[in-house]
Amino acid sequence: MARKPTLSPSKFTTFLACPTKYYWTYLDPRGKWYLRSKNYYSFGTTLHLVLQRFHDSNDTGVTTVEEAVAAVEDSWIDAGYSSAQEMQEALGEGKSIIEAYVERVQAQPVAATTIFFEKLLRKDQGDWVLTGRVDRVDEHPDGTIEVVDYKSRRQGVTSEEIASDLAMSVYQVLLKEQFPDRPVRATILALRTGVSATASLDDSQREEFENDLRALAREILDRDFTGHEPTPKALCASCDFLALCSKEPKFQADYEAWLDSNKREILEEDS
Ligand code: SF4
Repeated sequence: MARKPTLSPSKFTTFLACPTKYYWTYLDPRGKWYLRSKNYYSFGTTLHLVLQRFHDSNDTGVTTVEEAVAAVEDSWIDAGYSSAQEMQEALGEGKSIIEAYVERVQAQPVAATTIFFEKLLRKDQGDWVLTGRVDRVDEHPDGTIEVVDYKSRRQGVTSEEIASDLAMSVYQVLLKEQFPDRPVRATILALRTGVSATASLDDSQREEFENDLRALAREILDRDFTGHEPTPKALCASCDFLALCSKEPKFQADYEAWLDSNKREILEEDS
């Protein structure tokens, strides 16, 4: 039996940003030859690996500030940096972030229990499956289930941002499936500053969100991508697939015209 297609927050947000980008990323194997390593992915993955070890009670190798800082070096991923100096600066920054994080956690009384870390959750939707990989899930003494999402590049976050964040809403849907009788909430933690914010969907908000998500899933899964035409947009300038899309003469001409007509805005953004 054929496996059901899966849709994750990354797939939904990629499609919303640009359907052609979705096509190159997930459907056409030629796309993978154009993907470039990103230093911010490497940086974020390293921090996640260290935090996973720190919160894993079965891993006794990363329990102190010193061990956590050493683990940054052990887990370091060097892909995507443009120079050795840039990488050394990032390594130093990573160690500082982890040091401050562990000190903050150790200064707080431990109330919640971490029940999942870097776990893939799934919810069957009939002919497709909703998936999402959560960074960390805590169970609080009052029974509340809380998903905690680490952001390694952000300085701050608000509860309004979480309430409108597609991934955080997907995580709540997935957790409610596993814990139907428990309150569920979502938190984003900005690792650089320790700032965090929390939001929670009530039953009717979650139902409305899931209905919207199903409609979007239908649009993605039923779409005929053959003969799709890339359309110029601000995202193109930083997109790995610009060279691929530019092979289409029509896109190339449209993109040049788009750059001309948006020159002033682009220059203002860069200044
Ligand atoms: S270059 Fe532009 S049109 Fe092409 S995939 Fe990227 S964002 Fe989409």
